Amino acid sequence: MEHKVTLIPGDGIGPEIAAAARRVLEASGVKFQWEVMEAGEAVLEKHGTVLPEAVLESIRRNKVALKGPITTPVGTGFRSVNVTLRLALDLFANVRPARNLPNIPSRYENVDLVIVRENTEDLYVGVEHMVGEDAAESIKIITRKGSERVVRFAFEYARKNKRRKVTAVHKANILKCTDGLFLECARQVARDYPDIEFEDRIVDNMCMQLVQKPELYDVLVMPNLYGDILSDLCAGLVGGLGVAPGGNIGAGVAVFEPVHGSAPKYAGQNKVNPLAMILSGVMMLEHLGELEAAARVRQAIEAVLAEGKYLTYDLGGTAGTSEMAEAIARRLEKG
Ligand code: NAD
Repeated sequence: MEHKVTLIPGDGIGPEIAAAARRVLEASGVKFQWEVMEAGEAVLEKHGTVLPEAVLESIRRNKVALKGPITTPVGTGFRSVNVTLRLALDLFANVRPARNLPNIPSRYENVDLVIVRENTEDLYVGVEHMVGEDAAESIKIITRKGSERVVRFAFEYARKNKRRKVTAVHKANILKCTDGLFLECARQVARDYPDIEFEDRIVDNMCMQLVQKPELYDVLVMPNLYGDILSDLCAGLVGGLGVAPGGNIGAGVAVFEPVHGSAPKYAGQNKVNPLAMILSGVMMLEHLGELEAAARVRQAIEAVLAEGKYLTYDLGGTAGTSEMAEAIARRLEKG
């Protein structure tokens, strides 16, 4: 069966890693019909927006997308395409696994964590304003509906993937209303899953625990901002942003993308690690029900890592983005 997928290469290093992922996914033998769509600053002049309606329509129609990173200007300028996309499609759960891969240098072993980040609320709603000239205010929004559905997603994910524990992360000791509501919802939802252990951690303590004993944790669920920060931390535990994939999941629609951004300083150099994007593609294959192909791509990645000949700079090698992808694709084609 051919899968129709929206492909958003993005900008910065996006087009290079998108081409790499496409090469590997096609080498798996699964048939794709890619609908390539552009978004970001490059289309602003032509379309008058960084996220043209046609991109959203394509994803709604195909129900699945693979997306490269897109640059967001800091401080001023347009709103993040990534945040806007997640809100427009109501992609409420951001799933970011962090697992040790063989032969990837890392300070830790036996890390196998999954962050489930709430993706539509919290400070990311973008309600911010100046108060006079010398103060600024940002509003943090947490709702019962948003909290319950992401925690339920985390428990369902845990059940489906045979995980043993869900940890809710919050700052309810200080943010008694907002994070207090999130924690209350988490505790309520947890009662429906007696087969899965539940606990909660205050976010600052969670950071220390993750650095000291990450192997104690399993599925972590949390509001948007903590999820953003902790997923980079967890990527760091297992070898860095170059190997950290993700999926944004909503009701009937899913967009897969790496955790990392557009790394503009490396754009066009055929230098960065394509694995985060390729592994996001593997998550997409699993979502599409192509479990056998997904397993083969994982094996091919592990074989190339074990061989150690075609590794990008962040993994201690000198291979380019396309060489590493080519090595994985050739393994797949050899069978
Ligand atoms: P970044 O993730 O782009 O890069 C930070 C550093 O991580 C890089 O300088 C590089 O050293 C390393 N890195 C990232 N990807 C790598 C890869 N594939 N291989 C090897 N090393 C890699 O973070 P940033 O510099 O803070 O952000 C750059 C831009 O990306 C910003 O405009 C930001 O808003 C945007 N961004 C987009 C997304 C997204 O599209 N979902 C996510 C995060 C950041």
